[in-house]
Parts: sequence; C-alpha cells; structure tokens
Amino acid sequence: MEGMVVKTRTPKVIEARKTILELILAHHPQDCLNCIRNGNCELQDLANEYFIRDNPFTLKVRGLKKDYSTPSIFRDPDKCVLCRRCIDACSVVQSVHALGLENRGVHSMVVPTMGGDLIDSPCVMCGQCVHACPVGAIGEVEEIDKLLAAIADPDKVVVTQIAPAVRTAIGEEVGMKTGDMSMEVFAAGLRQVGFDYVLHTNFTADLTILEEGNELLQRLKEGGTLPMFTSCSPGWINFCETYYPDLLDNLSTCKSPQQMFGSLVKTYWADKMGIDPAKIYSVSIMPCTAKKFEASRPEMNDSGYRDVDLVLTTREIGRLFRMSGIDFDKLAGTNLDSWMGAYTGAAVIFGASGGVMEAALRTVYEVVTGRNLKDVNFEVTRGITGIKEAEVDLDGTVVKVAIANGLSNARKLMDQVRAGESPYHFIEIMACPGGCIGGGGQPITKANTKRVERIDSIYVEDEKCAIRKSHENPEVKTLYDEFLHEPLGHKSHELLHTHYHAKNKKYL
Ligand code: SF4
Ligand code: SF4
Ligand code: SF4
Repeated sequence: MEGMVVKTRTPKVIEARKTILELILAHHPQDCLNCIRNGNCELQDLANEYFIRDNPFTLKVRGLKKDYSTPSIFRDPDKCVLCRRCIDACSVVQSVHALGLENRGVHSMVVPTMGGDLIDSPCVMCGQCVHACPVGAIGEVEEIDKLLAAIADPDKVVVTQIAPAVRTAIGEEVGMKTGDMSMEVFAAGLRQVGFDYVLHTNFTADLTILEEGNELLQRLKEGGTLPMFTSCSPGWINFCETYYPDLLDNLSTCKSPQQMFGSLVKTYWADKMGIDPAKIYSVSIMPCTAKKFEASRPEMNDSGYRDVDLVLTTREIGRLFRMSGIDFDKLAGTNLDSWMGAYTGAAVIFGASGGVMEAALRTVYEVVTGRNLKDVNFEVTRGITGIKEAEVDLDGTVVKVAIANGLSNARKLMDQVRAGESPYHFIEIMACPGGCIGGGGQPITKANTKRVERIDSIYVEDEKCAIRKSHENPEVKTLYDEFLHEPLGHKSHELLHTHYHAKNKKYL
C-alpha cells in the first residue's frame, strides 16, 4: 500500500533465499565442469553470491532423459529450475507454443507440448528459449569436435562462411565490446584455429538480393503470388511450414544465403580454385540455431554433395577462440579470400531486422527506375520495433512493404494475409527479436539494449563500406558473367532456389 516499505535484504530474507537455493541444488546435477553454461550460469552465480558451500539437504537428482532429438537444440530436464522463462519465450515472444508444464508440485516438469521429444513438437529451433534459460537445461547442440576432426584431416580443405550478424557479436565472447572486433581480425583468428579459406556469407547475401529482387519484380509484373515473403530465416521457414502451410506459395523460392553459399562453394568456387569438391568441408558460422536444422534438410544437396557440412554458432566459435588462447588485441588482421569473399554494405545489414528489405530496395529502385539512388539509407526499415511498414515510389508504382521480427509479430502479419486483408507487396520476416543480431546462437542476452548496440554496430559497418548496393558487388558480377549468366536463369534455379513442405503435424 501507499508508503509501505519492503525490505529485501534482511537476514531473514537472505536465509529464506539461501534455503530455496539449497533445495534447488539438492535436485541439481553437480556437474558444472561439464556443463554448457559453466561460467555463464545464473544458478552458479547465485550459489556463489549466497555462500552456498555445504548443502544440508541430501542430493537427489531425478535422472530424467536428455532430449537430443533435434539437430539444433538439446534439453537436459535434470538441470531445469522450473523458472518457466522458456515457456514464455516460446509462447509469448515467438507464439510457437512448443513447451509447456506437466504435473504439479515436486513432480512439475517443463516438457515439449503434447509429450514426446522436442522434434515432435511445433518447435521451430529458433533458440530463443536458450537465451531465456538461466541454466544449462536448454542449449545449442555443440559440434566443435567435428570441426577439429576436419581441420586435423589432411585430405580436407576446410572453408568457412560467416553470417552478417556474427562479426558484431563475436567480440563479446572474448572480452571485447560489441562490434569492436573487425572482420579482418576475425578472419585472422579463424586462420589461426585452422581454417584453410575464410569467405563470407555476405557474398551470397548480395546474391540473394539479385535473385529475390528479380523474383519480386517478376511477381509484380506477371501477377505472381503476393505479398512475397523473404526466405532467409530458417526459424521463420519452419514456422510458416508448421502454422501457415496454406501460404507457402508466398515464400520467395530463394534459398537462404547460407545454403546458396553451400551450393556454390562446391561448384563454382571449387572449379575456379581447382579444388576437388569432394575434399571441401564447408563450415558456416551462424548467429542461428535453426541454421543447423536447415543445413540438414535432405534437399540441401544441389551441389552433388552435402552443401553445408557443419554449422557452428557464434557461441561455439567463441568457445573455440577462448580454448585457442588467441590474444585478439594483438592479432594483426587479414583479408578475406577471393571469389566468394567480397561484399557490400547492403549485405552487412542483413544482420538486423529490416536489413534485407533495405538492401532489396537499394537494388530494386535502381533496376526499376534506371536512376542512381543517391541516399541509400531507408531509415524507416530500421530499428527493433516488432512490425515496421513503408511505401516506396518506383516511378509511379507504389510498393508497400512490411517487416516483422519475432514470430508473434510475424503471426500478426500472416493472419492478415490469410484473411485476404494484407495491403503489402513484400514482407520481410526474421524469426528472432531484432533479427539475426538476436539469433538463438548469439552470445546469451536477454537485454534489448544489447540488441540495439549490435544493430548500431551493423549500420556503422555499412556506412564504412565503399560499395553499399548488392548489384555493384564486383565478385557477384563476375559470378553472373562466368557461371550463372542471369538472375532466375537455369543455373540459378538449379543451385540457388528451393521448395517448401507443409509440416502436417498431427495436432495442429
Ligand atoms: S546449469 Fe549451472 S549450476 Fe547447473 S551444472 Fe550447469 S553450470 Fe552448474
Ligand atoms: S527453439 Fe524456439 S520454438 Fe523451439 S522451444 Fe525454443 S523458443 Fe520454442
Ligand atoms: S528456462 Fe530453463 S530452467 Fe527455466 S523452466 Fe525453462 S528449461 Fe527450466
């Protein structure tokens, strides 16, 4: 009531908190040394802050089954402290409803909805529950061992691509400020741990704009299915296939930049470099847990091989860097390798919500009007707001666009489309809050301020780029001249485009 004073740190309160912590720890596996959250765990921190040394309660771990059913996310229910944050992240932020609570009292458990394993639930593998979880009860499936084996294999040529949102956050993993690690220093670090070639997903982000921009123009001209949805966020693709299978024709047929890169590195790039594609081990470094699932989709083998052999998250690369003991403050930067390493500012901004749309508008404007776009900054598409919209006049044709980040925002736009009430021609959707900078594989954060810092760093990098329009990327031009010949042409369809499948989950 008015004027009431609540004391939160009296000896009684501290004692009560301590007892609750001791009770939680009495059910908790005491294996911090082997845990994915060792050193970054709220329970560890609290146990330390409250001087918990000897626990008066007897240790009794429930011995529940670990769930490794998805290629992206694992669950270790014994470590769950029943805070229910993951349920809120999944249901409120993402509107996926893959997790729920079962039983009552001491038997309460967080479980995939409808029982079974996570793979049987509507989970889209976005990894937002991993950010929400204070402990190691949910995490990304770690695959660093596979990378180390490939690096040690003299018959393998280990090639990496780096997604646009990774550079801005990787420094956070090694004690630097957000955005402070340059691309050149990042590339030098990757060479030190053993990568043979360091290329960039930004190259295929630029390529995506050429393919997707032309697809939009074709749909506008020829009366194709509109609004067209972007297709570069695999968590969003899973969501659309699960909850909106009737709208799959609205999705752009473009593969994500990761998968475009995968199919080109074992065809075009291998040929240009004179490397046997069978020897290439293609590793992508992604801000995203759903990318692990995307790379494992059976259709992603258009190069004649597995297009992407391994996907590692920003956090996994952070652990690898820490293990390697590299002093990043003293490390001299190196350039990226050629033929799929050049990129523009338009590709850099793919990492933030609204970036794909802005990059597309920079190119589509010039293609349609034939005029030079003087100011490339479409400020209206930027920022962390859940749904943004804009109108662009292309010489008399007004194109209406919308942008959503976070799947509960996507759901609002999709319901509008399903009801036939959408005024838009083109919709960008990113599954994660803020876009890829807030991806499920990024350094753990719950704060929007951190997401905004990462976004700011992305636009600073864009401003620094000498070329800021995808269609001006010189290596992309060479790719079309020598190999693809034209956007949406035969080779493009073979290597860069895909199709989608309704998930038909029985309980949806
Ligand atoms: S969740 Fe935290 S407290 Fe539990 S084992 Fe892992 S690091 Fe230790
Ligand atoms: S990965 Fe995403 S969809 Fe799956 S349980 Fe976690 S929050 Fe839900
Ligand atoms: S967020 Fe983690 S600890 Fe909390 S209920 Fe979910 S799984 Fe358990």
